[in-house]
Amino acid sequence: MLTKSIFTRALKRSPWVFHVGTSGCNNCDIEIADCLTPRFDVERFGIKLVGSPRHADVMLISGPVSRACREVLQQAWLDMPQPRLAVMVGVCACSMGAYKDAYSVSGPPDKVLREVDPDARFVYVPGCPPKPETIVMGIVKLLGSL
Ligand code: SF4
Repeated sequence: MLTKSIFTRALKRSPWVFHVGTSGCNNCDIEIADCLTPRFDVERFGIKLVGSPRHADVMLISGPVSRACREVLQQAWLDMPQPRLAVMVGVCACSMGAYKDAYSVSGPPDKVLREVDPDARFVYVPGCPPKPETIVMGIVKLLGSL
């Protein structure tokens, strides 16, 4: 119990994030890059970008899931340590947006990930693209739910 509380406290103070663009138009990816670079500089709040899902606490997902990246996304998700958390960045990741009914798309990321992990937890940040401030707010809201 004590270990869990220490872990949760550490996670809330310094979440490490892994970014996955699953085939959107890339504008959301640019807004995520804005969060991580000096103008918004989320590292000052302890939010740090990592290069592997194995090291990540939170996955930032932009875009709908194309058929080509469906399995890769599911594998990256299962590589993350528990609790597995994600922020859906942009309307395409939240509800498919402009890609609804596209032949090349498998579905929204939450649906694709729940197939392999029913306990997955998500927060949705709509917008096309959402502002960096709202992406940061999404991460904070997700951690607040722990
Ligand atoms: S939400 Fe808008 S900006 Fe983001 S990937 Fe979709 S179309 Fe592009």
